[in-house]
Amino acid sequence: MNMKKQPRVLIVEDEPAIAELVAVNLRHNGFAPVWAEDGTAAQRELDAVLPDAILLDWMLPGQSGLALARKWRADARTKSVPILMLTARGDEPDKVQGLDAGADDYITKPFSTQELLARIRAVLRRRAPENVDDLVRIGALALDAATHRVSWQERPVKVGPTEFKLLHYLMKHPERVHTRQQLLDKVWGDHVFIEERTVDVHVKRLREALGAAGALVETVRGVGYRITAQAAPAEKAA
Ligand code: CA
Repeated sequence: MNMKKQPRVLIVEDEPAIAELVAVNLRHNGFAPVWAEDGTAAQRELDAVLPDAILLDWMLPGQSGLALARKWRADARTKSVPILMLTARGDEPDKVQGLDAGADDYITKPFSTQELLARIRAVLRRRAPENVDDLVRIGALALDAATHRVSWQERPVKVGPTEFKLLHYLMKHPERVHTRQQLLDKVWGDHVFIEERTVDVHVKRLREALGAAGALVETVRGVGYRITAQAAPAEKAA
């Protein structure tokens, strides 16, 4: 018996016309939108009720969307709420900065309503799966979905939220090769509007975070990626 609750979406946007348009569309599509015009108002909202997702404008008066994303990611209360950044600029460094700050996705203005809805649904879908099961291991690499911890040779490894999901998926399906499309589909959810390049960015970041264990994540040229216990990280030189 699944009482269908309307997902609450906090819109942090200083331009009333955009906020209004987004809110109307969300409401028509079964969401419960809440509008905050800046970081202060948004924080008040978050302190009161935790939303299911945050739609965060990059350019805001006062604290920028980027600063807010960092702050909310670092806060135990808000750290698992998906954040979708709205940005007027389309260039790659900014997108990467947004993802680095802990945003789950970004959407470039102007965007279509359909695209926005698809992306919100995708972040909501993505949030749940890694909570279901617990410990997976590949050699000395361990991931505990319950505590959201990764360790290598019993030492903790810090990985970002997207890298965690990616690693979790790869570890649950070891040895086989996954194409970028498959990874977008399984890890990112609704991949229609995300470029395959995004996968490469996160794989790179994942390897960096894993250090020596990064060698477990193999690139299969022309196909995609896999995680394998066969790779010998920190191998003695032959
Ligand atoms: Ca703005």
